[in-house]
Amino acid sequence: MRQSGFATTSAPIPAQDSTRFVHKSVNMKDLADLHIHTTASDGAWTPTQVVQAAADKGLGAIAITDHDTIDGLSEALEAGRRAGVIVVPGLEISAIHGAKTEVHVLGYFFDHQYAELVEQLHILKNSRESRGRKIVEQLNEAGVNITFERVSELAQGGAIGRPHVARALCEIGAVNSIDAAFGRWLQEGAPGYVPRYKISPNDAVRLILNAGGAAVCAHPGKQVGDEILVEMIDQGMCGVEARHPDHGPVTTRYYEKFAAKRALIATGGSDSHCIQGGKRTDIGSVTVSVDVVDQLKEAAAQRRK
Ligand code: AMP
Ligand code: ZN
Ligand code: FE
Ligand code: FE
Repeated sequence: MRQSGFATTSAPIPAQDSTRFVHKSVNMKDLADLHIHTTASDGAWTPTQVVQAAADKGLGAIAITDHDTIDGLSEALEAGRRAGVIVVPGLEISAIHGAKTEVHVLGYFFDHQYAELVEQLHILKNSRESRGRKIVEQLNEAGVNITFERVSELAQGGAIGRPHVARALCEIGAVNSIDAAFGRWLQEGAPGYVPRYKISPNDAVRLILNAGGAAVCAHPGKQVGDEILVEMIDQGMCGVEARHPDHGPVTTRYYEKFAAKRALIATGGSDSHCIQGGKRTDIGSVTVSVDVVDQLKEAAAQRRK
């Protein structure tokens, strides 16, 4: 069986896709995918379906990291207990540095009942709903006839994001792919673009730490400069996501070295949204050693002391 992963110390053999590596000797149980979305935000699968997919692949651990919400966690934790997969409680806060630099902050092993966290996430989720309404209004003004009701249905009660609007645009045939929906209607400068509620990366890190968790910068190679990372480290951030589908081998190595130099934890995950067709990244397609789970747990415990 072909397995992808990074858990051994032997030299990786590049596969056809240069962002992945193949190790024939790796046991899937030793691997963890620490970045996965569910229907609690803009993923296509429910937390139970995600855990089942991880169990079917034989993964040792996964983290559920929905955008700005922890609503999927209790279902996922329960499904994990049943399926024998370690489920790490997580989230991905969509922060913005300065005017418009997207910085996504992953949190792990926080106290999900911590009042400040619950309150902030409530604000973020509500603001995603009002932004969703604004996006639909702007699209209607531009002559595209989708309804907020449909977008909301597609979100299934989860935190509303542009992917839900993109799916509604595909349904009515306004575009023929999710990617085209972003390009033509939803990305910055497009008719349906509406910025999100603004939380800074440093505030996101502090929120996660206050809730007793470990904070990690998601996919830093996408937009985040090292100066921003250094600021976040100063706030107590303990890791960077070195392995991600949008990081090629050079970027991955860069952040692994970055982490090693600063005694940070190098994490990784597939950022799977389980979208059938179109852009799809499979659960378990990007992984790290399950040891990283213990490192994150330990970092969170250290903060609490
Ligand atoms: P939002 O958080 O509502 O601003 O939406 C951003 C999310 O949309 C990202 O986290 C990705 O999951 C997804 N996304 C961004 N660009 C694209 C794209 N070109 N195609 C598909 N999904 C995208
Ligand atoms: Zn997403
Ligand atoms: Fe992200
Ligand atoms: Fe993500």
